[in-house]
Amino acid sequence: MANRILMAVCILIFSISFVGCASRVFALARVDAAAANASFIHEMPIEAGIEGLPPIVQTPVIPSRNAGLFPNWHEIFVDFITNLETEAAAMNNVVVPDNGDYIEEEYTEEEEQIVVGHIAITFDDGPHPTLTPVLLDALYARDVRVTFFLLGMEVDRYPDIVARMYEEGHLIGNHSFGHPSFTRISRQGIIDEIYRTNRSIEAITGTAPTTLRPPYGARNNMVLDVAREMDMSVVLWSVDPRDWSLRDAQRVRDHIIDHAIDGSVVLLHDIHESSIEAAIMAVDILIEQGFKLVTVEELFEINAMTLQAGEMYRSIYHTIGGTE
Ligand code: ZN
Repeated sequence: MANRILMAVCILIFSISFVGCASRVFALARVDAAAANASFIHEMPIEAGIEGLPPIVQTPVIPSRNAGLFPNWHEIFVDFITNLETEAAAMNNVVVPDNGDYIEEEYTEEEEQIVVGHIAITFDDGPHPTLTPVLLDALYARDVRVTFFLLGMEVDRYPDIVARMYEEGHLIGNHSFGHPSFTRISRQGIIDEIYRTNRSIEAITGTAPTTLRPPYGARNNMVLDVAREMDMSVVLWSVDPRDWSLRDAQRVRDHIIDHAIDGSVVLLHDIHESSIEAAIMAVDILIEQGFKLVTVEELFEINAMTLQAGEMYRSIYHTIGGTE
């Protein structure tokens, strides 16, 4: 009888412990199934204050997220608790609660964070003195990284913004110095445009860009040859909402949402207010839909591809050789 009373007291104590630890334990499931399982096994008893518990608690196995989004998480949790309870009873001094309903809310939150694909949003023609910082604020608040294809002449005017882009983890690419069409200037002209811009950016960030987006996307074999010689890959885009012409945030946003898929590269310009608005709205929707927004370099890396000098890319599905 005394034992029963002791158990009741313990139930109360450990109920409180489990409520406190539930979010932390399940938040770890983000990593991967094996790591989540290991953390779950390791941390649950510690969090519950049962550090000396033998390895019987290794029974629960959290399934891979890909294998059905934890459809049976509740059973697993109850199994775990049951095992823990059995073991605890054997130790004659601890009892744990047998219901895990209070973590259901945490699980729902986890479910929303499952990544359905990766998209790279890119911004050309900046930095802009007032609009780019607004965009950077919004991206920072959302923990989102993008790619900026900068104009050398604007880099020289607004170095602080370039430094901030770099510090906040965005990828910086080269969009020429003064925005000429590369198919209308000489070979030496192309070299100068790329070189000057790379030096301007490098002077600020310490790193020269390795991605090039020629103005207007204009390119020919000479442009690709120069890019190869200068160790630059040419990154175009697969989704073009024509933001510079529409100047309508809602329509630009809708175009992005309707066309962007896993592996897409989206073209925008951070020199128009409507484009910034559209970008922020699109980012929120894409995140809500489960997309993760990444830089172009990351986009290819995630898909086991490396951007090669002198090659041209539109998206992970559309890589164009130097002979187009
Ligand atoms: Zn441009």
